[in-house]
Amino acid sequence: MKKITSLNCPLVAEGLVPAEAVPPDHDSSALVADIAVSPECNIRLFNAGDTIFIEGSSADRAYIIESGYVEIFVGSGEDSLQLNVLGPGDIFGEMGIIDAAPRSASAKAICPCRCIVVSAAQVAERIESSSPIVRLFVSMSLHRNRAYNAYLKALATPHVSLPSPAVSEKAYAKNQQYQQILDDIKLEADLQNAVRNDELFLVYQPLLNLHNQRVIGFEALLRWQCPQRGLVNPQQFIALAEETSLIFPMGDWILERSCTDLRRFQDQLDCIGQGNVDFFISINISVRQFQQLDFFDRLMACTQRHQVRAQQIKLEVTERVFLDEVEAIDSIDKCRAAGFEVSLDDFGTGYSSLNYLERCEIDCLKIDQSFIQKLCSSDRAKILVGAIIDIARQLGLPTVAEGIETPAQMAALQAMGCDIGQGFLFSRPLPLAEALGLVGQPLAIAPLNPA
Ligand code: C2E
Ligand code: CA
Ligand code: CA
Repeated sequence: MKKITSLNCPLVAEGLVPAEAVPPDHDSSALVADIAVSPECNIRLFNAGDTIFIEGSSADRAYIIESGYVEIFVGSGEDSLQLNVLGPGDIFGEMGIIDAAPRSASAKAICPCRCIVVSAAQVAERIESSSPIVRLFVSMSLHRNRAYNAYLKALATPHVSLPSPAVSEKAYAKNQQYQQILDDIKLEADLQNAVRNDELFLVYQPLLNLHNQRVIGFEALLRWQCPQRGLVNPQQFIALAEETSLIFPMGDWILERSCTDLRRFQDQLDCIGQGNVDFFISINISVRQFQQLDFFDRLMACTQRHQVRAQQIKLEVTERVFLDEVEAIDSIDKCRAAGFEVSLDDFGTGYSSLNYLERCEIDCLKIDQSFIQKLCSSDRAKILVGAIIDIARQLGLPTVAEGIETPAQMAALQAMGCDIGQGFLFSRPLPLAEALGLVGQPLAIAPLNPA
């Protein structure tokens, strides 16, 4: 056997080798029989010379060596090549259980060994739940290691022509999922620049008192004007920001900017002699922001810097916040105690909306727009909206209906006693300068623009 003493990394112990390549001098029946099972079922004991697995066999488990030494090699007989010798604490056989490809190297006990078995099932769930980018990077490095293994094996057998690792590498680029992941990585890189290069801005959509149609506040909605991509859909980039830590600098920016703008709204109200009228800005806060231990302190510092009052700020949270996120619930409680109102956004879409209402103190219910849009075409939607408004009333909570697009929807909501409305019927989200012009005004209802 030839030895490569410089190869000391356990990752080079596997490769993409077809089943036909299993060397003839390996006895597969012995492989099944050679494993001595200890009374603890996740422990395997091997004698010196036992084959633990062979090239080409399917991989359903990895091993952690507790005691003894294991040799990892490719090829067989005279042409076999030792890749590594592993000892206590080392892991082997792990690549196959990550990507389910057949083993491309063999493993043999050099002396009596005791190994802990890690089953494929134990790892599969964790891999499935990791981000597609992490999965791509892991499988790419496995792929490279396998190509390298095959290359080393060919080196050891002079009559076999050398495979080209570069050719197999190209196969990745054709995979659609790979392209999608690359697009996401590029979007993430652009989004990082967006925060740095000031490409984000806020627009404001009015909220109206449905009894007198007066503008009583605005919801701040984030927009991203990317130089290369144009205006990017908020649902797309906010979801990405929430998956990464980008939501933190973005969230800070949103707070800072909405408090600056709230100051401008307040100045405008003072200017038209309505400085004492109740007015608020709704800010969307993501679950991860609430989980930050210092979120409350940041929020307080921000409002003090801009001299705005907590009572003028509503924090919109989705039901996901209440999914056993203890830190998030603590933050929310602190905010409420300091006078910030908390609105439960997209109400009715979560899978245990009523449960949250029972458990958590909030100040306002925002009925999801999917119900409002079916209000006049579905009796069921109408019954549900009516029931939500009744529940809220009995709990002493005002209701906001979002996504009102037609006068008929508005009339139905008024008749049901909904307090506040928002939607394209009144106005689309507007740049700050235009929103300032609506402060304190009754809003003429514009015919819906289909664009
Ligand atoms: P959301 O909080 O439910 O925001 C309401 C969405 O409904 C906004 O979409 C708004 O433009 C849209 N909308 C309002 N009236 C109507 C209507 O009559 N018809 C229809 N079809 N749509 C209407 P937008 O601005 O695209 O925001 C989408 C989501 O992105 C928001 O849903 C929110 O979850 C998230 N988002 C937006 N801005 C922020 C932000 O500053 N921070 C965070 N964390 N999330 C934000
Ligand atoms: Ca919202
Ligand atoms: Ca909503």
